[in-house]
Amino acid sequence: MAGALVDIRDVSKVYGRGDVAVHAVDHVSVTIDSGEFVAVMGASGSGKSTLMHILGCLDIPTEGHYLFAGETVETMSERQLADLRNRRIGFVFQQFQLLSSLPAWRNVELPLLYRAAANRRGLAMEALDRVGLADRVEHRPNELSGGQQQRVAIARALVTDPDLILADEPTGNLDSASSHEILEMLVSLNASGRTIILITHDPAIAAVASRQCTMRDGRLLEAVAA
Ligand code: ADP
Ligand code: MG
Repeated sequence: MAGALVDIRDVSKVYGRGDVAVHAVDHVSVTIDSGEFVAVMGASGSGKSTLMHILGCLDIPTEGHYLFAGETVETMSERQLADLRNRRIGFVFQQFQLLSSLPAWRNVELPLLYRAAANRRGLAMEALDRVGLADRVEHRPNELSGGQQQRVAIARALVTDPDLILADEPTGNLDSASSHEILEMLVSLNASGRTIILITHDPAIAAVASRQCTMRDGRLLEAVAA
């Protein structure tokens, strides 16, 4: 589907109040079309993760408007938000966020449990195959390298066939060879039509995206700030 997937207008997120209020996101407007690959750069504390939580419908802004694929997000119930996240958005985090007691395929299956999907094991295996881990499906996270754990997390993000993948510093805990693999995976997911928003503080990583933005003190600037 062409057209705007993500469209936020004058969105702010304020933590605390009065003297100690922090404008983590400060009147940000941005439109991201289906099929784009956008990198968001910025210093630590500039509001990148807060913006990503808003874009991922994990957090509701203090003010402003959000249209996801034409649907108004800020008036949705918790249940509607959870459905939207489960159907349309995949998340990849710096700390992988895998459940340590479960083998890789059970981690990948998790988003499918929410929707009581059929053939969950088969879909999880397929997703793990796509990230090159067909031979590691029974391994638990502590039996996998960092790069492999992040690939499991990508498989978990992919298993629901989402429109949007949000990746917050996905290579932040990886060596350069593993970083490279994860980036290539994101590039190929984008080539197959998925919209990607990648948060990073590394300009070399941001360079793989087709569009670069920078957060500074809660504001979003188009292009990389000098
Ligand atoms: P980044 O991801 O760019 O490092 P964050 O979005 O995590 O930045 O944080 C932006 C600002 O909001 C920081 O000043 C941070 O301290 C503050 N902040 C983030 N989360 C919270 C929270 N839950 N409560 C209060 N302040 C927060
Ligand atoms: Mg962050």
